[in-house]
Amino acid sequence: MNTLNIVPFVSVDNMMKLVLHLGAERVMTDIAAYIEADFHRWELFDKTPRVASHSDVGVIELMPTSDGEMYGFKYVNGHPKNTKEGLQTVTAFGLLAEVDTGYPILLTEMTILTALRTAAMSALAAKHLAPKGATTMAMIGNGAQSEFQALAFRAICGVNAVRLYDIDPAASKKCARNLAGTGIDVTICKTREEAMEGAAIVTTCTADKQNATILTDNMVGAGIHINAVGGDCPGKTELHRDILLRSDIFVEYPPQTRIEGEIQQLAADHPVKELWQVMTGRTTGRESANAITLFDSVGFAIEDFSALRYIHDQLKTLPFSEPLDMIADPDDPRDLFGMLLRAKAKAA
Ligand code: NAD
Repeated sequence: MNTLNIVPFVSVDNMMKLVLHLGAERVMTDIAAYIEADFHRWELFDKTPRVASHSDVGVIELMPTSDGEMYGFKYVNGHPKNTKEGLQTVTAFGLLAEVDTGYPILLTEMTILTALRTAAMSALAAKHLAPKGATTMAMIGNGAQSEFQALAFRAICGVNAVRLYDIDPAASKKCARNLAGTGIDVTICKTREEAMEGAAIVTTCTADKQNATILTDNMVGAGIHINAVGGDCPGKTELHRDILLRSDIFVEYPPQTRIEGEIQQLAADHPVKELWQVMTGRTTGRESANAITLFDSVGFAIEDFSALRYIHDQLKTLPFSEPLDMIADPDDPRDLFGMLLRAKAKAA
């Protein structure tokens, strides 16, 4: 049997083992390095806005890309109403394939991996944009992504204090409980304004399928870095438009962000900067201590590709996968039907 027919599969259980074995902060630091390396190769990649199927309650999306040697895609949903039904807002799985044969080389859960890569991307953007020496972050929205965000900002940006706010106090308590013992100084706040006190970075990571106003213009002072994670769909934003007009806006892939990001509220030609150009030194990041920088995060396929590439590399030395009999493997490649007949004869 050709070994290409057996695809390594990373279950949720094995992803947890891998993350616990290496440590979440190390994994996010490593994924950030993979993303940065791939953003340095930006022009090589196939790029397209993700393919979204919208319903009244959520969205299901496919996110493909290729660097010419490997092809990857992620299937991901976004359903803010799910948590009320005991289901997650975001779940995902993904696949990496070899371009040369088209054969898959990895199938993996990506619900946990998405939280890791989203936080890694947020912290990587902040490393380039946030004011120097920022150590306190306000975290508005304390759901599934929140602890990952806090830990990535600690590992990659040196943030050591987070100020939590969520409309549901139980979510903030859960986040504080999960961060206990990490060394991060956690404060639960009663209002968004209280959470912003003394914070040089603010992360908005809420889920609501509407044009929400998580931050109003008066809440955002000079010199702040905003990491806006939750606005990632048409009609689903978190920031008041006036904040955008005062900010230097940084995005992943403009054709996708103009559809899905905070900037859907602005004219189609409103100037934005691309993060890959900041990382490669082609454009400036933060221009002054007083500038308001905004990472209008929506999540782009290349970040998932980087995360898949990272997991694929880890499996070269770590045992956290199982073989999946996923690709039909007839002895004669053109005798697919004969393979069925032989199986029937064997079963009889
Ligand atoms: P979640 O449902 O687990 O958590 C969302 C939290 O936001 C909940 O605790 C909820 O109570 C809180 N919330 C809702 N409205 C609020 C408000 N007005 N003020 C304060 N808190 C409020 O969702 P999650 O998995 O943590 O995802 C959060 C958001 O991030 C979602 O919108 C998701 O689509 C988005 N997301 C973006 C990316 C990206 O790459 N940009 C990746 C993953 C998830």
